[in-house]
Formats: sequence, structure tokens, C-alpha cells
Amino acid sequence: MNKIPQLFGSMVFGDHVMQERLPEATYKAVKETVEKGKRLDAGVVHIVAKAMKEWAVEKGATHYTHWFQPMTGITAEKHDSFISPVGADGVIMEFSGKELMRGESDASSFPSGGLRTTFEARGYTAWDPTSYAFVKDNTLFIPTAFYSYGGECLDKKTPLMRSMEALNKQAKRILLLFGDAETARVIPTVGAEQEYFLIDKDLYKKRQDLVFTGRTLFGSRPPKGQEMDDHYFGTIKPRVQAFMQDLDEELWKLGVLAKTEHNEAAPAQHELAPIFTSVNTATDHNQLTMEMMKRVAEKHGLVCLLHEKPFAGVNGSGKHNNWSLSTSSGENLLDPGAAPSENLRFLLFLTAVIEASDTYQDLLRFSVATAGNDHRLGANEAPPAIISVFLGDELTEVLDAIAAGTTYSEKEKHEMKVGVRVLPRFAKDTTDRNRTSPMAFTGNKFEFRMVGSSLSIAEPNIVLNTIVADALSQYAEKLEGSLDFENDVRALIREAYTKHKRIVFSGDNYAVEWADEAARRGLLNLRTTPEALPYFVSERNIKLFARHNIFTEGEMRSRYEILTEEYTKVLHIEALTALDIATRDILPAISRYAKDVADRVKVRQELLGNTEFPEKSQMQKLYQVIDTLYTKTEDLRQLLAQAEKYTDCHIAAGFYKDFIRRAMDEVREAADEGERLTAASYWPMPTYAQLLFS
Ligand code: ADP
Ligand code: MG
Repeated sequence: MNKIPQLFGSMVFGDHVMQERLPEATYKAVKETVEKGKRLDAGVVHIVAKAMKEWAVEKGATHYTHWFQPMTGITAEKHDSFISPVGADGVIMEFSGKELMRGESDASSFPSGGLRTTFEARGYTAWDPTSYAFVKDNTLFIPTAFYSYGGECLDKKTPLMRSMEALNKQAKRILLLFGDAETARVIPTVGAEQEYFLIDKDLYKKRQDLVFTGRTLFGSRPPKGQEMDDHYFGTIKPRVQAFMQDLDEELWKLGVLAKTEHNEAAPAQHELAPIFTSVNTATDHNQLTMEMMKRVAEKHGLVCLLHEKPFAGVNGSGKHNNWSLSTSSGENLLDPGAAPSENLRFLLFLTAVIEASDTYQDLLRFSVATAGNDHRLGANEAPPAIISVFLGDELTEVLDAIAAGTTYSEKEKHEMKVGVRVLPRFAKDTTDRNRTSPMAFTGNKFEFRMVGSSLSIAEPNIVLNTIVADALSQYAEKLEGSLDFENDVRALIREAYTKHKRIVFSGDNYAVEWADEAARRGLLNLRTTPEALPYFVSERNIKLFARHNIFTEGEMRSRYEILTEEYTKVLHIEALTALDIATRDILPAISRYAKDVADRVKVRQELLGNTEFPEKSQMQKLYQVIDTLYTKTEDLRQLLAQAEKYTDCHIAAGFYKDFIRRAMDEVREAADEGERLTAASYWPMPTYAQLLFS
């Protein structure tokens, strides 16, 4: 453990390395860019490139790559060698400022939703100096933004950076009103807790559904569920522990300060929590984390599943997007301090998040909408598809008091009365916890819990940054020029909170009654991706993103298209895989067993002369399941043929949602019933019990 300080960030061209290796003026210029968002000039870039290359070569790098995040949701790379020929047979390692700054990439293999026409397939990558470069696999990785010839963004990073800029601008207007002219920059900070499953690699390979779709499409639940934890920890623990240690080290080298730990919610499920950083670095780090999890797992004979719902009936995986606002000097603007009711600046920022979450429920839901995540949101599991905000007792009371125009008495609240005189009184957390809330204030940050485990955190943070920036800009407009600032702030909070209070909910978000209650409050409940996606391109939302220079209408429409297509593609592959497994593995297995049972029935009837005996009804049940499974499989096959005819992806998406999903569920239901009736030795693939408790 004592080697961590040397290990940490050892493969990162970070602040330390830059300070050491760059001329002072160059270092300062880079620092200004990172902290104040200033643009770098070409001369500086050239010096940085040279130092970066020298450092990378010392770390064993022979290649460099512009690393970017296209709309596929995973990262992409384009590798080039540093090697440049000199003379007849010599080479030197070269890397220029131009190569650092900009790359050209064939954009035609990445989704663009019609933005990039085929005759203009060029795409460009541009260095993002605010996220550190690093060395991995003998390659220098340079974080970049990816955009088209016409300047339209083709990635997730460009709009994320634009949204950081928008939020910075509006937050600083508010700070100025509170007399703070010093803060150079306001930065959204994020810590993304990552959930995942680990299963045995040999078993994984025997599951076509896991291999092709990342989740099990079949599988009857094990007779015992989560209470088998003990057994599980007993057998797999050493391998998992070795994995975690290895993963931590790999991530530390890349500057991701991660801590892996057991999470006992579901068998085989775990969680990793990093220490928070600026949102664009956190986004890069989360991508690296997911990639490393998969890779390190392989090394340990395991497979890491990042799907939101790998196993039916077992808790799914998400990502808790902890989000806050920090000044460049490190002050957390969502820290309530000792007396929240007197901390007007905090209350104003808090109100902005509440107002934004209510006004733009549709966008928050949109930002996490994928086929995989639909199995969590809108299914019987946490969190629901309904957006609500949890504040905790104290803050709810503070805001209620402001809304009612009464005074909130701060004093009594601050000590927890334990009722035992000898115990010391301790300060109470300003928030208690509500584990079911999709958007919970947890002490000094908001925890957005709807993000799916496999998603890039870029989208939800683009939305969070933008909608909060919008609320703040309205507040700034109202307050700039105010003559009685404190009173006007209170009045504004009163008005905004009263108007948006319906989004605040402290109860159990899983309870069925909440859906009814939410409907009465007029809150949205968008259960599926095809229902959520169209909201993105509403007139209001197009205006919102344009107002803050995040997206043009064209960029939004292209994203809407890409995400819709993505949804149908995922369901299409799942349906094909389900058909294949049902037809070629499961039906034959049940039939084989049924045939053997039928043989026994024959023996009893013909040789023993029995008339009533258990095998007979067993045989009937088996053939019934075979008939049902056969019929349901044919239904799915026909629906799929119909789906393939739709050329409009939005119509197709609706069809997949309404018909294919149900048909797949019905195939599964019959197959799982077959599994329960069939002898284990006949079953063609590892069962849930084996996968989860191997
Ligand atoms: P909790 O006990 O509430 O889960 P932790 O301190 O363990 O809180 O933090 C959980 C996650 O939230 C971690 O990833 C952490 O880095 C992140 N986090 C903490 N403070 C902030 C903040 N100000 N901004 C963003 N993320 C934060
Ligand atoms: Mg959490």
C-alpha cells in the first residue's frame, strides 16, 4: 500500500509532470487554460507536444492516439506512430504541436445521424487540454473532441465542454451578485459510482445471450436468491479480491483515484467509487474505468458485465452520478455550511437545481434513456422513471419556512439528541438518506441515480449543467440591479420553490402509490426509451440548448436519430439472439428430455401395464411447454420480419417497444418454464444458479 503515492498518476501527463517538464511560462499558460478556459496559442502547444512526447517515450510509448468519445457511447482511438524516417535507414521519434492539437479521422464509421453526408466523411479531433493525456499499452492517449468538417459535434465531449462553459458563465453572474468578483471559474464536479457484475469466464462463454447482448435472455431464477451471499463470498472471494486489487492499481496509474468494494445488494455485484473531479475528467475516467474493469476481469478468468440488467429478478446495475459545483479555489457551492437557513447563496443554488429538475424532467429522463436502462427505470426496481428530488428533513423545512414566510429556528436542529446523557451530542448530517430517490441531495452534492451502468456519464451531465445554467441565468436576470438584494433573493426562492415544490418527494420511490401520487402532481412518467426520446427535440428544448450554445437544432435532431436507431438495433439483436437460442438450443433440449420421459411412459404402459403414474403428467407438461415455446418463437419470428420492413426508425422503435419486447418476454416465459421441468443434465447452457453462485 505504501507504493501508492508513486504509483498514482504515474502514467499521466498531469499537473506535477507538466510543472517539472515545461518551461515556467508554458506551464502557466496551460494552467490558465485548465483553470480559466483560455485558448492556447500554437507556440505553447508546440512546446507542450515536445515535452509530452519525451515523457511518453520514457514511459515506453511508441505510438500516440487521439482518444475520443463518439456517439457509440464507447471510446475510439486512431493510432499513429511517433516514428519519422531520417536519412536512408534511420528513424527519430517525432511529435509536433500540430499533431497534438488536431487530428483527422474518417468519420464515416461513426454514427452521425445524417450530419455528415457521405461525400464529406472527414471528421476532426481536437485536443482537450483540460483533461490530462496518459500512457496505456505503449501509446500516448490524448483526450480530444470529435467534430465534422462543418463543425458539428459528433461526440459526447464537445457538448459536455460547452455545457461546462454555459454553467460557468451563469454561476459567475450569481457569484458576482453575492459580491464575489474573484472566482475565476465555476466547475461542475462529478464522482460516478460504478456498479458491475463479475462472473466466471468459462460459464460466460457458454451463454450466447451474454456474449451477444450483454444480458441473459433466458434463465429461471435460482431456488435461493440473495440469501446465498455467504456461499458466494466463500468460494469466489479470493479471485474477486485479486481482481479488485489489480483494478485499483491499474486505475491509480492512470490517475483515477478509485476504491473498489463489495456491494451486497445482489450476488456477484460490486461497486467502485472514485474520488470526484471536474466533470470532463470524470467522464474520461469513467470510460477508462469501464474499459479497465473488462480487461482486468479477463486476466482473472472473470467477465465484467456492465449491462443495466444482466439477470432478471436480480438487482440491476447503475451509476450514481454525484454532482456539485465548485469554484476554482475549491469551494463547494452546494455545501450548506453550519446554518443552511442563513446561507442564501447556497439556498439559491439549491433552488436552481430544484427548479431545473422540475422544469426539465423530460431532459433528465431523456439523458439516461437506453434499451438496457429501461429494464431498471420503469420496471419494478430502483429508481423509477419518475423524476423527483429528495432534500432531507432539514432542508425541506428550511425551504418550507421560506415559502411560508416564517422563520426557521436553526439551533435545535444541530444536535442529535441521543437520549443518553453520557453519550456526547454529535452534529447531525443535514440530510438523512433516501436510497430510493432518483435525485437525492446527499450533504453537499446531488446524487443522480438514474444513470445506467453502461452509459457514458456525458449526456446526463450535459443536461444537468445546461438546465441548472438556465435556471441561474433567469435568477441573475431578476436579481441584477436589485436594490434590496437579500429580500429579493428570499422572494425569488419563495416564488421558485412554491412553483416547483411538486418535484420534491421524500417517500419511498418504489411504492406503487408513488406513481399515482406523481400523476396527481403532474409529473412525467416515461417508462421506456421510445417514449422519452422525442421530448429531446421539443421546441422548448431546442431553444434551451441553442440559448446556451450547447447544441444546434441539427445536432439535436441527429442525436435523436442516432439514439432511436440504437434502441431498435439493440432490441433487434436481442430478438434474433433469443430466437436462435430458443430454436436451436432450448427447444431441442426440452424435446430430448420429453422424448426420454415418453420412452419411460411407454415402458410403464406397455411392459408394466400401469395406467396412472407420474411420468404421464410430466410428459404432458413437457409437450405443452414445447408447443407453447414453439408457437411463441414463431410469433416472434413473424413480428421480427414485420419490424425489419419499417424504414422509419421512429416507427420501428415504437413497434419494438410495443410488440417485440412482449413477444420476447413470452418466449422467455415458456423457455424458463421448460428449464424448471427439464433434468439439469439436458440443459444446454449454464443456469442462473451456476452463473451467480459458481
Ligand atoms: P456518500 O457516503 O454520501 O456516498 P461519499 O463521500 O462516499 O459519499 O461519496 C460518494 C461519491 O460522491 C464519491 O464518488 C465521491 O467522490 C462523490 N462526491 C463527494 N463529494 C462530491 C462533490 N462535491 N462533487 C461531486 N462528487 C462528490
Ligand atoms: Mg451512492
